[in-house]
Amino acid sequence: MGAGPAALCIAAEFVQQGLNVKALASNSPEKPWPNTYGIWAKELESLEMEALLAYRWRNTASYFGDGLTQEGCVSVKHDLDYGLFDQEAFQRSLLDKCNGLVWQIETVENIVFNDLNTEVLCISGNKYLARIVVDASGHKTPFVLRPDNSHIAQQAAYGIVGKFSAPPVEKNQFVLMDFRSNHLNAEELKGPPTFLYAMDFGEDVYFVEETSLAFYPPVSCETLKKRLKSRLDRRGIEIKEIIHEENCLFPMNLPLPKRNQALLAFGGSASMVHPASGYMVGALLRRAPKFANELANAIAIQPPLNSLSLAEIGWEALWPKELVYRHNLYQFGLDRLMSFDEARLRLFFSSFFKLPKEDWFGFLANTLPLPRLLIVMLKLFFIAPINVKLGMIGL
Ligand SMILES: Cc1cc2nc3c(=O)[nH]c(=O)nc-3n(C[C@H](O)[C@H](O)[C@H](O)COP(=O)(O)OP(=O)(O)OC[C@H]3O[C@@H](n4cnc5c(N)ncnc54)[C@H](O)[C@@H]3O)c2cc1C
Repeated sequence: MGAGPAALCIAAEFVQQGLNVKALASNSPEKPWPNTYGIWAKELESLEMEALLAYRWRNTASYFGDGLTQEGCVSVKHDLDYGLFDQEAFQRSLLDKCNGLVWQIETVENIVFNDLNTEVLCISGNKYLARIVVDASGHKTPFVLRPDNSHIAQQAAYGIVGKFSAPPVEKNQFVLMDFRSNHLNAEELKGPPTFLYAMDFGEDVYFVEETSLAFYPPVSCETLKKRLKSRLDRRGIEIKEIIHEENCLFPMNLPLPKRNQALLAFGGSASMVHPASGYMVGALLRRAPKFANELANAIAIQPPLNSLSLAEIGWEALWPKELVYRHNLYQFGLDRLMSFDEARLRLFFSSFFKLPKEDWFGFLANTLPLPRLLIVMLKLFFIAPINVKLGMIGL
């Protein structure tokens, strides 16, 4: 179910496994995705997919000073390429891997679990039967059962692709996080911290996005819009032309799905968004092959397993203990970060990016094995200033 990046990734792998796949989505898989996805180039290089980047920046930086003094304006150079997918090429490459699989344009209304199989009921009145259903319909899915959490933190962002009276970032630069806060008044400084995510698209076009990493309740679009304007005003930059606006809102700490359900999920619906960064596409590409392979092996077992038994194997393949522990650590980290005020958060990130590149990159991409992740988190604790240490232990 679905036609977003998660559905296309997993459908492609199921087809490669030789499974008999039926794909359903409310919209055609050919329809351009509404979001543009960013990723560290190294993540794609390890998958030999870096040719799918439309943009690639060498000059990647962040700012964690207060912006008030010369010292407070100094940037941290990341020395790691960042890129944006060529959306069309990415979508096309996944569809090509689906070997002509045809999507039924259907909105799923209900899923009924029988003893041996699962029925998918669509708004059109059509009904489909499956050994197992994989819900890749995004984080808003009503079908995947998960423990209750009434305090879901959301990443929120408001961005503009446009032209400006002066460059909002350096030429050819990508800015991951500009936390400089000298455009905020005393009252605003007490509110949830936000940062600028920005890039130069060339030909005088830039993308600037005011972002709240995660907060409950989410930072409103009006607040983000106002902050972006005052940030630009403070630097004497006027918006000359808006080519495209982006409103972004998605959950960061959605609880992991329950395992005792006869349904599987992949992508936003399976809580696969990295709880500490909000990124997911690299994880989809890395995790889809193993998930598809283990599910294909389970489907081949004789006598045939029912949907519930297949789902049990599928959940274990998608969320093995190692990944669950890592996820819990990230969620713990996110909880701590959300309690930080603006100045403490700047100090935290400034320490974080003092870690060796392999460590911070592995943390952000979720590619560090559990023992290494624990060591990196401890290292961070030791190098962080006392104010951040206290925040990390909840003081
Ligand atoms: C604005 C924005 C920017 C983001 N940027 C990045 C980024 O730069 N890098 C990154 O790694 N992550 C990013 N993310 C996070 C994450 O990667 C995206 O949210 C991603 O789109 C989630 O993919 P998905 O396929 O799980 O769900 P979606 O992209 O939401 O796709 C869901 C699909 O399911 C279909 N569907 C929904 N309900 C039904 C139904 N009942 N029946 C049938 N079909 C249904 C929809 O039509 C759609 O095709 C971003 C998120 C947002 C919101």
